[in-house]
Amino acid sequence: MTERPGASVIIAGAGIVGASIAYHLAARGCRDVLVLERADAPASGSTGRSAGGVRHQFATAVNVRLSHYSIERLQAFTQEVGGYASLRQVGYLFVHTDPASWKRYQEQAKLQRSLGVPTELLSADEAGRLVPGMRLDDVLGASYCPWDGYCDPYGIATGYLARARSLGVRVRCEAPISAVHRVGGRVVGVETPDGTYGCETFVNACGAWAGPLGAMAGLDIPVRPFRRTIYVTDDFDGLPDGMPFSFDVASGFYVRKEGRALFFGLTNPHEPSSERLDVDWGWLDSVLEHGVRRFPMLGEAQLAHRRCWSGLYEVTPDHMPVLGRHPALPNYLDASGFSGHGVMHAPATGMLMAEEILDGRAHSIDIDELRVDRFDARALRVETNVF
Ligand SMILES: Cc1cc2nc3c(=O)[nH]c(=O)nc-3n(C[C@H](O)[C@H](O)[C@H](O)COP(=O)(O)OP(=O)(O)OC[C@H]3O[C@@H](n4cnc5c(N)ncnc54)[C@H](O)[C@@H]3O)c2cc1C
Repeated sequence: MTERPGASVIIAGAGIVGASIAYHLAARGCRDVLVLERADAPASGSTGRSAGGVRHQFATAVNVRLSHYSIERLQAFTQEVGGYASLRQVGYLFVHTDPASWKRYQEQAKLQRSLGVPTELLSADEAGRLVPGMRLDDVLGASYCPWDGYCDPYGIATGYLARARSLGVRVRCEAPISAVHRVGGRVVGVETPDGTYGCETFVNACGAWAGPLGAMAGLDIPVRPFRRTIYVTDDFDGLPDGMPFSFDVASGFYVRKEGRALFFGLTNPHEPSSERLDVDWGWLDSVLEHGVRRFPMLGEAQLAHRRCWSGLYEVTPDHMPVLGRHPALPNYLDASGFSGHGVMHAPATGMLMAEEILDGRAHSIDIDELRVDRFDARALRVETNVF
């Protein structure tokens, strides 16, 4: 095998998470970094297939903190990093018809406010003013955070990578890692079709493929891929520009504006884990049934069949990310398992993984409950606000 110039840190995966880690390391002066990406271009995994939503409304404090830090960074992205995050803080609106979920979200709003997030609890009429025409007769209330919204994940990932490259980071595409070499309880390098690359530290930022990558290092990383489809309409003015990213919590149906079109979707709970990327046309009728029940105007919108797409969520058993150094392999780090929230948590993840590598341990946000050994040791604390 040809030996290629290695690096102090090798990052596997040039999605938004790998890109953020590369940027944060370089910005702190650690520039001997190599990002290895299997595809022929960065951000072509889940990052380029995301809905781009960013929100603070989570059930767990650590997820609220990851969002809070990340969304502040996205506000200043162009000045701090360069490139365009295209953040639009139109809010997220969670609409409740089920007493149990409404009660839970009211409790969570207290947690979010205690962490500095201005989550509001709205009456049905107040929610209806944000989304005119929404069905309200069965609505018990809604939670709304004006700091939530959506962004451009591709712009963020490529912005991080461009800045990282300008600081000296190397990015190689069409470089699928096929083996991770260990010697004496440490990762010493990785293998690609072009040759082997040595490293002192290795980061698994392979998103939905983090499980197989971990297995190459002899580790069980419980991240599994699940297909999610985003359906897109032609231009449609039946819902206003500036409307919040809106969820019918009882069904899980969501809709948001994208330019003059709409993105909408609903998780198919019967779908098994797979790497399928074809559009789930068989599920569309169920999606529309739930969608039109809450948002009757959707019945007038035309589907743009060729603009719909699917991507992969990277799901863990508790829907929480897996972050940090592996206890059995101290120079191997996980940064995956975001369970559908990796875009909104990427800025914080980059900062925290840079701390973990350069300072020995992440310290700006306590990530101990996100470390991989939680799956052996304790009953899991599940993030319930996942769709
Ligand atoms: C339909 C959909 C909607 C979503 N909506 C949202 C949302 O609204 N908000 C949000 O925050 N998140 C959302 N997500 C989730 C979000 O897209 C992911 O959490 C995020 O993109 C993860 O980024 P990543 O960099 O970890 O993974 P990816 O972008 O998938 O990057 C991982 C990279 O690793 C590479 N790779 C894999 N194996 C290897 C190998 N052996 N060698 C080298 N490289 C390899 C892949 O090619 C890929 O480019 C959504 C996801 C989907 C599918």
